[in-house]
Amino acid sequence: MAEFAQLRDRMVEVQLAGRGVRDRRVLKAMAQVPRERFVESGFEEFAYEDGALPIANAQTISQPYIVALMSEAAELKPADKVLEVGTGSGYAAAVASRLAGSVHTIERHADLARIAALRLAAQGYDNCVVHTGDGTRGLPAEAPFDAILVAAGGPTVPNALKSQLAVGGRLVIPVGAREDEQSLLRVTRRSEAEYDEETFGAVRFVPLIGEHGWAEDGTRAASNHIPGRTRFRSLPEMIGAAIEPLPALEDPAFGALFDRFAQCRVVLLGEASHGTSEFYQARAAITRHLIEKHGFTIVAVEADWPDAAAIDRYVRHRASRGSGERPFERFPTWMWRNTDVAAFVAWMRKHNEGKPTGEPAGFFGLDIYNMRSSIAAVLAYLDGVDPEAAAVARERYGCLTPWQREPSTYGRAVLTEGYRKCEAEILRQCQDILKKELDYAASDPDSFLDAAQNARLIASAERYYRIMYYGGAESWNLRDTHMFETLGHILDAQGPRSKAVVWAHNSHIGDARFTEMGAVRDELNIGQLCREKFAEAACLIGFGTHTGTVAAASDWDGEMEVMQVRPSRPDSYERLFHDAGAASGFLEFRRDESLRRCLLEPRLERFIGVIYRPSTELQSHYAEASMPQQFDAFLWFDETHSVRPLGPEHRPTGVPDTYPFGL
Ligand code: SAM
Repeated sequence: MAEFAQLRDRMVEVQLAGRGVRDRRVLKAMAQVPRERFVESGFEEFAYEDGALPIANAQTISQPYIVALMSEAAELKPADKVLEVGTGSGYAAAVASRLAGSVHTIERHADLARIAALRLAAQGYDNCVVHTGDGTRGLPAEAPFDAILVAAGGPTVPNALKSQLAVGGRLVIPVGAREDEQSLLRVTRRSEAEYDEETFGAVRFVPLIGEHGWAEDGTRAASNHIPGRTRFRSLPEMIGAAIEPLPALEDPAFGALFDRFAQCRVVLLGEASHGTSEFYQARAAITRHLIEKHGFTIVAVEADWPDAAAIDRYVRHRASRGSGERPFERFPTWMWRNTDVAAFVAWMRKHNEGKPTGEPAGFFGLDIYNMRSSIAAVLAYLDGVDPEAAAVARERYGCLTPWQREPSTYGRAVLTEGYRKCEAEILRQCQDILKKELDYAASDPDSFLDAAQNARLIASAERYYRIMYYGGAESWNLRDTHMFETLGHILDAQGPRSKAVVWAHNSHIGDARFTEMGAVRDELNIGQLCREKFAEAACLIGFGTHTGTVAAASDWDGEMEVMQVRPSRPDSYERLFHDAGAASGFLEFRRDESLRRCLLEPRLERFIGVIYRPSTELQSHYAEASMPQQFDAFLWFDETHSVRPLGPEHRPTGVPDTYPFGL
């Protein structure tokens, strides 16, 4: 029926592909087999719901996702001979029969076996044979099998089943010490005597009852496991096998690793601290490649808009605004005034030099802190295009004058000391500029975008400093929403084919829903908002390290120090990567499904910002996250080094103090 076919397609899309089932043959088979014909009469309307359903003898037809997951894990091939233990309704056997050459399925309840056999025959699944008996013993007369799927949970892996695998064969089975809770295991027979074992995460099945499973009364059968035969792969071993080695940063092969993200609209590159050279260098190398080879023209960074705008004018060979103000003079200066950023900025300027066609690559700031420069920039712009409007703006922004140097005191003054709040004037000013877009932007759209963005920033910052006084999620959310909206304005200004690379801390670019930030504190971030808007066209890449040095301060507004980064904690994700043994590497989570599932369970991850306090590291810098959901991929440098802040020694002779910004 057309209606069921539609429901089935939707199930494949939402419940299976949406949860990470990737094997196209499995998705196709799941889209072919009519589950409504395997459920009990009266349950047809629930056939495509996301769960198991009751069948006779107090058993169940498995959840569609579990059937797909097991079929995928078993890597069924067209010529394979398959054994399924636990026929139940016959549904999983029907799916396996679409993927393999022949399927033997065995059920301990004779009634279930009889009905399933009739169903399968009636629907033409003639490469399926149904048997009645204790499947924990396997089916010696038909062995060996290329794959064995066990649809009920046992206390251990029955040796009878392992021994009936062909060499190279896969046994997929839920195993757990309690009857109602198991891990899904895949045991692969490597040779006569060797087996590898991997886990695919927690599952819940009805009990496997039989000689090598549970006894009817729930006690564990005695005769089943010969220990020592199975080689269990640890998580670091799995990471070590899956992680892609990194070519040297200057090798073109390094950039080419990221060709796989060429079609993305936004590639977000994180960092696990604001003062680690390798993170900056790697982001620069990836960005250069995406700009040169794949038409990315926007570099949007976690920096203040007016400061980044000065760099943008420099890299795009536009005239300096000549205000004499140097960008990135405020704490933490090393975040953008460092040798790695200087080298990247120089590269961008050179890349844009004499570019005959196409959009030059621009450098934009997403952040909201430099309200004073934004006010100056709006006034300077209006002085040029509309002096009358400039006079009105001066009056309105005058409300903020007492707080321009220390905006953080504005919120307290407004809330506790009854000072006038400036919100209405600031918003009106922003609206007035946006309303005049047609007049103002015609001759110079870039300058209009700059002014409009500064006016938006002032409006966001006014609100930010007011609500910051209370602390909590609201001010964080306002800041990240502003950053996301700014990114949207830049993309829109460059048209529907524009593509951006974002540089921001892991805490901004890793999807907040899968970290303590989102789960406990209701905070969102740019990464989450990008995923919600761009779906697969957004790629979130986190960065991490085990130890080394970092540039940071002990307190806000303090001096920059080069500090030792403590070795990562034994219970952290970083330690798993360290134990994997690679000096550096790249892990794209979707490329290894079993590893991805094993890493899903939340664990600690380290976040160092501009402040680093090693003595209280656990409380100050670690938070729980589910890394494979937070990021699409992770870039690893086992040992890292602090950035070098720009000082006079980095200025070539004859170049003025403003190098490399040339302003
Ligand atoms: N694959 C089934 C489907 O698609 O409908 C779901 C099966 S249900 C979750 C598990 C089945 O395993 C039950 O029908 C149960 O009777 C059967 N079972 C439990 N222990 C068994 C054993 N030792 N041998 C054969 N079948 C067993």
